[in-house]
Amino acid sequence: MLKLLCPRQYVAKLADIDLNDLRQKGICALLLDLDNTLVPRDEDRCPEEVVRWLEGARERGFKLCIVSNNTSARVLSLASSLSIPAVPRAIKPFKRPFLQAMGLLGVGPAETAVIGDQLFTDVLGGNRLGLYTILVVPLQGRDFWATSLVTRPLERLVLCFLSQRPDKGADLT
Ligand SMILES: [Mg+2]
Repeated sequence: MLKLLCPRQYVAKLADIDLNDLRQKGICALLLDLDNTLVPRDEDRCPEEVVRWLEGARERGFKLCIVSNNTSARVLSLASSLSIPAVPRAIKPFKRPFLQAMGLLGVGPAETAVIGDQLFTDVLGGNRLGLYTILVVPLQGRDFWATSLVTRPLERLVLCFLSQRPDKGADLT
């Protein structure tokens, strides 16, 4: 179970993700979480830095899709402002939304990375399908109440445990 919660990489921000390295690993598609990964949860605009990063990824030939547990209206309006396809109301960590997103992009698991700020939705869901998972530190913004009350303390516990394991993934920093 713990292995399924272990991201392949843990980065402070999107800009710290080495896209060339991902290409070398054969990855050409990025499934992106929305809230607190691309947009602070209590805002409805993407920070300029994130917009630039998305454009850079697209210029390098990455296919992008947003996979979000949030409501359709918020997800679709943000996704269309970024010109990125989206799977809203995803119910991550279920496998189905990730499979749906890969279907939209026409890619397989070996070519796909999941990028998100939550272990129990983004990382767990991606790992269940054998996708390359990247955990990012949440953008500033308030979490959904259940996330801050229940999920974040559990995440801290798991991350603390993982960081002490001698056999942690080589990429995990
Ligand atoms: Mg999130």
